[in-house]
Amino acid sequence: MTHPPPTRSRYEVVIVGGGIAGAALAYFLAERGLADVLLLERESQPGYHATGRSAATLNELDAVSTLQRLKVLSAPFLREPPAGFADNPLLDPSGVMTLFREPLWSTLRAEAPSFAASGLRLELLAPAEAVARVPLLSVREFDGALLVPDDGHIDVHELLTSYLRHAARRGVERCFDTEVRTIRVEGGRCAGIVTDAGEMHARWVVDAAGAWAGRVAALAGALPIALAPCRRTIVTFAAPAGVDIRDWPMVASEAHRVYFAPESGGLLLSPMDETPMEPCDARPDDVALAAGLERLRALAPRLVPQTLRRKWAGLRTFAPDRVPVVGEDPQRPGFFWLAGQGGCGIETSPILGAIAADLIVEGRTERFDAKALSPARFA
Ligand SMILES: Cc1cc2nc3c(=O)[nH]c(=O)nc-3n(C[C@H](O)[C@H](O)[C@H](O)COP(=O)(O)OP(=O)(O)OC[C@H]3O[C@@H](n4cnc5c(N)ncnc54)[C@H](O)[C@@H]3O)c2cc1C
Repeated sequence: MTHPPPTRSRYEVVIVGGGIAGAALAYFLAERGLADVLLLERESQPGYHATGRSAATLNELDAVSTLQRLKVLSAPFLREPPAGFADNPLLDPSGVMTLFREPLWSTLRAEAPSFAASGLRLELLAPAEAVARVPLLSVREFDGALLVPDDGHIDVHELLTSYLRHAARRGVERCFDTEVRTIRVEGGRCAGIVTDAGEMHARWVVDAAGAWAGRVAALAGALPIALAPCRRTIVTFAAPAGVDIRDWPMVASEAHRVYFAPESGGLLLSPMDETPMEPCDARPDDVALAAGLERLRALAPRLVPQTLRRKWAGLRTFAPDRVPVVGEDPQRPGFFWLAGQGGCGIETSPILGAIAADLIVEGRTERFDAKALSPARFA
């Protein structure tokens, strides 16, 4: 996909990064009437890095309460997007079932009413009930399960292209194959960027650079937040002969550190690896994969494949407290963070995009406690 070079040398907002975060922000800015925006992506297509490599799941259940609230706030957009936003449904509510062992299971069972109060519809399942849904699970391997029946598989391509299409329709420009190499600072404030396609002035420079967000922040002399890109591997393989997996939910087991879900007629599995590394075009980790398949052997022996179809990896980038970083930098005015989405940047993109647009347009948001996301918490 090629695009013409930027038409102007000045924009209100320049977004660095054409993944789901940058695309969502472009969309929500344009919806709010701010379309004087340029989105820049180094690769030749949007979504090439983390966005194109995810497990594509909405799972509102999260051990980090800020993340759970963000996901609950995002879910309505994914279930029922604005009229005309997408050509196909964004979410297939195939369900997400998480398996637990004691003592965690008893703790979670006791907390279930508070999840419900937060707007999350949950079913508590005994092991036999979980096995009734996914018959190949070993019933002795876990003590209970939480099923979120309304969550499931997100059509990431549809979401990403819809954000970009609507933003473009309102006048947002985008430019691929264009790397931001320098960030200009004038009088202590971000003033623009320099790319291989030339120099652009901007009132705001937004860091939506995923695994490279720390490096982009360093170009601006922004706060040195210790963002950690961590590799995660995914593999796909055929379902066992004669087993109908079409109605299975995604299954995740904290104790076995694996999750699997139906995907394109077969299964997708992740060994839930989390290896810190420098930002890069990540490649799958075969050692982590082999270990994950051994853990799967304990949980669901018949699922362990003889041959693999496809494997890939991507980087999930975490802030030190594992909560996204959204807001203006406290030491570099005009530099705006939209980073650190870790393992939930797809599912939280509607709410984080909307919050970021509020903060850029109005300097405040009613949607969420902006302080909880602000980069200033690391100052
Ligand atoms: C294996 C795996 C499973 C996951 N599963 C899920 C899931 O089930 N649900 C979920 O919600 N999330 C999931 N995630 C997380 C999700 O994919 C990320 O949180 C999200 O994609 C981050 O989006 P982003 O736009 O910030 O980053 P990216 O998609 O990485 O985009 C950042 C872009 O910035 C560009 N860039 C960087 N530096 C520059 C520069 N100097 N100039 C121009 N461009 C630049 C890069 O080329 C890149 O395209 C998963 C991630 C992985 C890897």
